[in-house]
Amino acid sequence: MKRAIYPGSFDPVTFGHLDVIERSLKITDELIVGVLQNSSKNPLFSVEERVTMLKEATSHIPHVRVEAFDGLLVDFAVKSEATTIVRGLRAITDFEYELQMSQINTALNHDVDTVFLTTRLQYAYLSSSIVKEVALMGGDISKFVPENVMKRVYEKFKLKERV
Ligand code: ADP
Repeated sequence: MKRAIYPGSFDPVTFGHLDVIERSLKITDELIVGVLQNSSKNPLFSVEERVTMLKEATSHIPHVRVEAFDGLLVDFAVKSEATTIVRGLRAITDFEYELQMSQINTALNHDVDTVFLTTRLQYAYLSSSIVKEVALMGGDISKFVPENVMKRVYEKFKLKERV
């Protein structure tokens, strides 16, 4: 059985992430969505909140598990008995960093490979940061994130009128 890990901050999960999750299941039997705990990015949502939102948003997709992790991604892969890491590529600007990460991960563990899924054009502009920015200014984010996530983002920003 093939098992892959899709790691990220998911602060919060967007339709772009969900598209990568669904498409990953064409190349793996089981997908573990790994939510990075020790993000230096000062996330808006706690790791527990991010895991909960992802679990809710993926509950209809079979063969997906959501887990928090910290430390080295390759160690999490070995512990999870996964040999593939899935990452999404939106634009050329993602590429340099992603290439470096995949190479360092291979240097750390030769048995773990990274595959890249290019984003669907309709989600190419989408990022967790842009969603938060739009929401903070009171904009409509219903096209970018699932409903459960939308409610939590507006609650965080205390935009009750939007909930
Ligand atoms: P990071 O892991 O850099 O904190 P994210 O949690 O936002 O980034 O994203 C996790 C993974 O999903 C990364 O591989 C990222 O490139 C990818 N991703 C993010 N947004 C999209 C999108 N709109 N379409 C496809 N892939 C995406």
